Amino acid sequence: MNERPRITIIGAGLAGTLLATLLAQRGWKVEVFERRGDPRVFGYAGGRSINLALTERGLHALRQADADLGVMRQAVMMRGRMVHPLDGEPELQRYGRDDSEVIWSINRGELNIVLIEAAEAAGAALHFDRRLESVDFDAGTFLVKGEGHEESRRFDTLVGADGAGSTLRAQMMRRLDLGERTEWLDHGYKELEIPPGPGGSFRIEPNALHIWPRGHYMCIALPNDERTFTVTLFMPHEGPHPSFATVADGETALALFREQFADAVPLIPLLEEDYERNPVGTLGTLYLDRWHIGDRAVLLGDAAHAMVPFHGQGMNCAFEDCVALADRLEAEDGLEAAFAAFEAERMPNAAAIQHMALENYIEMRDRVDDGDYRLQRVLELLLQERHPGRFVPHYAMVSFMRIPYAVALARSEVQRGILVRATEGLDSLDEVDWARVDADVLARLEPLPAP
Ligand code: FAD
Repeated sequence: MNERPRITIIGAGLAGTLLATLLAQRGWKVEVFERRGDPRVFGYAGGRSINLALTERGLHALRQADADLGVMRQAVMMRGRMVHPLDGEPELQRYGRDDSEVIWSINRGELNIVLIEAAEAAGAALHFDRRLESVDFDAGTFLVKGEGHEESRRFDTLVGADGAGSTLRAQMMRRLDLGERTEWLDHGYKELEIPPGPGGSFRIEPNALHIWPRGHYMCIALPNDERTFTVTLFMPHEGPHPSFATVADGETALALFREQFADAVPLIPLLEEDYERNPVGTLGTLYLDRWHIGDRAVLLGDAAHAMVPFHGQGMNCAFEDCVALADRLEAEDGLEAAFAAFEAERMPNAAAIQHMALENYIEMRDRVDDGDYRLQRVLELLLQERHPGRFVPHYAMVSFMRIPYAVALARSEVQRGILVRATEGLDSLDEVDWARVDADVLARLEPLPAP
């Protein structure tokens, strides 16, 4: 029998390390090249979004790699959205029915370190401070550079887990048009911090994702296990006040917060300094027509399908990719067939979650505190009780289940129609015509297949 090819992964971020673990555990020879230094030695230099929402899809993938326990040790449960209106008290909108349907806030740096250790324990060779510079597909070599180091190495096949700005993708594009296009969002983001309160306590409810929805902009805050919250302000880059163009310094930011996010002001003591120091991040959706070149290279995670973060699914989707690719490499005859099957399976699903992530921005910043929306969310839960396994709320399909994203999207669109028709002109659910709504559900939705 021929020896299995060696898999060379570019990027030891979230997807690269999980994939390395899964493949090494299954007996593949795996090496990983990462441009940053080893975070266990130099500290984590992530540079963006300190914490992330982990949901069932990502958790399931971590279980496949036996990495879930290490990750969950530092996770903070989030039961729902704590919506902070302009006037009035914050209100918790649960994500699911009870505490079996929750999501988790995890620290990006700690997660990355758990996965680096899992990959090494499984037998993968990780090389830090080694940035991919270029690839010679004909010669089967690639060039990496580090501090005072430059080296050409041979490869059998390359996997691009090097994120949204992927160098491997750029090198593949020199060989073959992948049909790359990026749609930039005209909104960006800036991170601020709520430090621990007196005695090292959380300053606000820890088991929630806090949202301050304000129409065309919003703030969110996710808890960290060290009792802080990472606050993210999303706002247009340009345009009428408030935008990052009109809120150019800390003093203007403080004035905006006093006016629009008043209850957050006492929680963020370094608001002005953080605002001036931290950069404005850009957000976009990356579309490709192809993710692989024959048996030579394949892309996954953000390198293949970066998305806006409003469904909290970019990493979760990237982790699903890792399981799918590892499975296909086992199941298919040869690398090319595995890469093609992986792409065929995952591309429609990535497109579906990219679409839902864009839609969710409007929902989060504009709809979560409006009356119609709240009525529809309550009705969703009632319909779930009346039609178990048939009517499953949109959020549950994406965050608590592993049905393909494309199926979740198609069913969500049907369900949205049912909810709109059922609540048209109603002020309360007492007036719902249940016979008509039940008939609508039965006519339009097949039961979901058992998991
Ligand atoms: P990355 O995590 O970007 O890792 C890429 C790795 O490749 C990095 O380590 C990088 O240093 C390395 N690299 C890059 N270039 C090279 C090179 N030339 N040579 C060698 N190494 C290289 N997702 C969620 O699921 N939940 C959330 O709550 C969530 N919130 C988010 C909030 C914000 C503000 C943002 C921007 C994103 C959020 N995401 C979230 C998305 C998530 O961050 C990404 O989907 C995820 O990081 C993708 O993982 P990846 O491994 O593909 O890429």
